[in-house]
Amino acid sequence: MSFLRDLSPSGWDSLCRKCGLCCYEKQLSPGTAVYDLSEPCPLLDCESQLCTVYRNRYRKNPRCRPVNLFTAMFSSYLPHCCGYTAWAKKYHLRLVRSREISYIHSIHPAGKLDDE
Ligand code: SF4
Ligand code: SF4
Repeated sequence: MSFLRDLSPSGWDSLCRKCGLCCYEKQLSPGTAVYDLSEPCPLLDCESQLCTVYRNRYRKNPRCRPVNLFTAMFSSYLPHCCGYTAWAKKYHLRLVRSREISYIHSIHPAGKLDDE
């Protein structure tokens, strides 16, 4: 039943590995996503990689987008280390090929997660 448990609000949140990478600016082109690790969302705590306004993030930042089931299944820009893409792969629900991901402008530890 872990599949259904994962879809509950608390289960879904727990899939996030809290790398913070999705909160950085990205330049997207067909087949690639370049994360600029010098440009975090202003509401990201760069020490902890946690959102400082998590409960109100969509109100505080209209550009903030949820990472939901659809995103996990179809968003090609998410980093390889993302817990949601891993989850979707686990259940054979990842229906898109990930873009080639790269990082610029920082040796931020979050970026290293994708190399592991
Ligand atoms: S507002 Fe959204 S993009 Fe900004 S730090 Fe919070 S979760 Fe990340
Ligand atoms: S990239 Fe995925 S695992 Fe990392 S913070 Fe964003 S949603 Fe969570």
